[in-house]
Amino acid sequence: MSTTSGWILAFADRALAAEPRLTSYDQAAGDGDFGANIAGAVRLVRTELAGLPADASATDVLSATAGVFLDRVGGTSGPLFGLLFQALARSAGAELTAAALAEGTAAGLAAIQRVGEAEVGDKTLVDALSPAVDALRALAPDASLTDAFKAAVEAAERGAHSTEDIRARRGRASYVGDHAVGVPDPGAVTIALLFGGPARDTV
Ligand code: ADP
Ligand code: MG
Ligand code: MG
Repeated sequence: MSTTSGWILAFADRALAAEPRLTSYDQAAGDGDFGANIAGAVRLVRTELAGLPADASATDVLSATAGVFLDRVGGTSGPLFGLLFQALARSAGAELTAAALAEGTAAGLAAIQRVGEAEVGDKTLVDALSPAVDALRALAPDASLTDAFKAAVEAAERGAHSTEDIRARRGRASYVGDHAVGVPDPGAVTIALLFGGPARDTV
């Protein structure tokens, strides 16, 4: 199994394990479908990746993942995560590198902000993705992919945690005002789960 498919399958495991908590966050702040949207997506991704040849490139794996999120997942999160995976697919080649992860994540953030117009502090997945981009940009040129995931997940976890204390200004969570204070944004938490990288014991 390639590093990239190992990463995406480990993310699928973490997302499925987190489904109940993601659902409860979206119940408090949104319409409650986030956990089901993500769980449904990663189950479809597992099937898609199982159908790829063993020597599939990082771009092939990430394109297949993007296709599921863009075309087959409901909610706001499906297309937004799809844009991130699409940008990662474009920057990756045969193998994912730290530089490609940094470039693809930055391009994904830009695409998500073009479409969704959220800024840091609006209580969306941008609050985790933007600090991850900064952490990846700050890596030394000779950083390994393991170093890159470590830097990105630490930044994304801090960013996801920061969403607990703020009112949403974008998405459905913005309709409920103070009701969502104290609850993290499920999209931001899922970005942190993504950057946990290929290690299956990271949550
Ligand atoms: P829906 O609101 O359509 O039910 P989901 O539950 O699938 O959408 O996804 C909700 C998540 O989408 C939120 O947790 C948030 O992180 C993300 N989100 C919502 N609006 C935006 C936006 N404008 N920009 C970035 N992310 C957003
Ligand atoms: Mg929802
Ligand atoms: Mg919905």
